[in-house]
Amino acid sequence: MNKLLPTSTAGSLPKPSWLAQPEKLWSPWKLEGDELIEGKHDALRVILADQLQAGIDIVSDGEQTRQHFVTTFIEHLEGVDFEKRETVRIRDRYDASVPTVVGAVSRPRSVFVEDAKFLRLQTSQPIKWALPGPMTMIDTLYDAHYKSREKLAWEFAKILNEEARELEAAGVDIIQFDEPAFNVFFDEVNDWGVATLEKAIEGLKCETAVHICYGYGIKANTDWKATLGGEWRQYERTFPKLQKSNIDLISLECHNSHVPMDLIELIRGKKVMVGAIDVASNTIETADEVADTLRKALKFVDADKLYPSTNCGMAPLARSVATGKLHALSAGAAIVRQELSA
Ligand SMILES: [Zn+2]
Repeated sequence: MNKLLPTSTAGSLPKPSWLAQPEKLWSPWKLEGDELIEGKHDALRVILADQLQAGIDIVSDGEQTRQHFVTTFIEHLEGVDFEKRETVRIRDRYDASVPTVVGAVSRPRSVFVEDAKFLRLQTSQPIKWALPGPMTMIDTLYDAHYKSREKLAWEFAKILNEEARELEAAGVDIIQFDEPAFNVFFDEVNDWGVATLEKAIEGLKCETAVHICYGYGIKANTDWKATLGGEWRQYERTFPKLQKSNIDLISLECHNSHVPMDLIELIRGKKVMVGAIDVASNTIETADEVADTLRKALKFVDADKLYPSTNCGMAPLARSVATGKLHALSAGAAIVRQELSA
C-alpha cells in the first residue's frame, strides 16, 4: 500500500437484518438454500459499499458469509463431529458446548475461496481475508483423537496453509489469522503457537497478519477484562517472539483498552494495525479521538508501518454504529495523514 496510514477493520461487520438476526453472535441465517447463497453475496456487496463510502482503504467481506469466525471454517473440515458435543472452557474464560475431533482432520475442499473470488471481482482496492489461527481453532474444540493441543494445532496449520495459498491465488492481498488465544496461553504461544502460525503462512507471497485482541464486546469478555487490572500487559509475553517471526502485520487493541502503548515498541520493524476504534462500546468515536490514539502509537511505530484499524470485529454492533465508527476511523486517519505530510 503506497498510501500513508491505510485504514482497515480487524474483522467482522454487522449483517443486514434480512440475512441474520442483528446484534448477535452465532446468529442463525434467515434464508435457506440458493436464497441464502445469493443473500450472503448481496450482503457482501452492501458491506463492501459501506466500507468504500466510509473511505476504508483495505476492504474485506466483513465476514458476511460466515456465522462465526472459527466454527464456520471448522464446519467444512473432516474429522470433526458437530453432533458429538462436549463442554470445554474456551480461552480459560467461559464454558461452551463444542464439537469433538473424532479422527484425522482434513480439508476436503476449499472453504472461503469462492467468496474471496467474488469479493475480488467487486473492487480494485486491496482486500484482506481473515482465517482463524491454529491455536484459537484447537481452543474451540474437544479433542478425542490426537489428545494433544500441539499436535492438533500443527494439523490445522497445514490445513490453513492450503486454504491460504488458494486465497492468495484468488487475489487476496493480506491474509489475517485471528489468534485471540495468544492473549491467554503465553507458554504455548512461545513453545509452539508462533511456530504453527508460521507453518500456516509458509510459502505465501502476499502479506500476512495476526490479530490478537481482548475479544468482542460480549459479557464473557467484559467480565474477563474487569479481572485484568489497571494495565493489560498480555502482549508483553508474546510480542518478542512475534517480532522475530515472518508475520508482516500485527493487529492489536489500543483505544479505550488498558494496553500500555509502549508495548508496541516490542514489535518494532513490523507493520502494526493499531486499534483506534472500541468495539465494546456503542459510542461512536470522534475523528479527534481516533487521531489522538494514532498520534500516541506513532511514538512506537514508524509512520509508514502504521495501519489504523479497529480493536476487533464489529459483528455484534448495530449497523448504524458500525458505519459511524468506520467513518470516524477514516476521518481520524485523514487528520494524522495531513499532519504527517505538512
Ligand atoms: Zn478480535
